[in-house]
Amino acid sequence: MTNLRESLTQVRERIERACRAAGRPSGSVGLLAVSKTVGVDRVRAAADLGQRAFGENYLQEGLAKQDGLADLGLEWHFIGPVQSNKTRDLALHFDWVHGVDRLRIAQRLSEARNPARDPLQVCVQVNISGETRKSGCAPDDAPALCEAIAALPGLRLRGLMAIPAPAGCADDARAPYRRLRELFDRIRAAGTPLDTISAGMTDDLEAAIAEGSTLVRVGTALFGKRNST
Ligand SMILES: *Cc1c(COP(=O)(O)O)cnc(C)c1O
Repeated sequence: MTNLRESLTQVRERIERACRAAGRPSGSVGLLAVSKTVGVDRVRAAADLGQRAFGENYLQEGLAKQDGLADLGLEWHFIGPVQSNKTRDLALHFDWVHGVDRLRIAQRLSEARNPARDPLQVCVQVNISGETRKSGCAPDDAPALCEAIAALPGLRLRGLMAIPAPAGCADDARAPYRRLRELFDRIRAAGTPLDTISAGMTDDLEAAIAEGSTLVRVGTALFGKRNST
């Protein structure tokens, strides 16, 4: 088991160093703590150390943790693939959904969102490495999808999310994130407001920050290695 206080400090330092190296302001990159497979007690410990935003990949696991930590008022992000039969629970119980990759899913999320709450914040997932069996929309389809989602009343479109294919070396690691940011810039230039690039994980957060990520999703470096499932 890792020492959470130490690992959280180290990850925050990595983010700050990467910002400095990229000439970006301190604090311009948020940290989403990926808590899949991590027990309620350790999430609570991370919250006690000041971490507010947590990412979950599996609906039932996420809901159980939200129940156990309801007193803390944490911010919950769903970062797994979105199946249409899960949209209702996601819209009702999460603050963000990162894996929106087609309009039908976005419409279902919008319809299910409780109108008394703030709109559900979403990112459009882009298959930036063009992998055949990966979720995410094709980059060329992202501008029109973003424009359509921005018009849905129950959603607030925040930006783009991607999980690139593993890279061979540090230079390669930056290439997909550069393409993601160029796409982000292109969509904004066309008039659809976006403010979030959800990109970078334990192994490549420096590359993602160098290319403009505003939110890194980190699990292993915070909570230790997961048992493979
Ligand atoms: C598991 C996961 C992460 C965290 O990955 P680490 O390598 O453990 O930091 C980030 N994003 C998504 C979508 C994930 O599924």
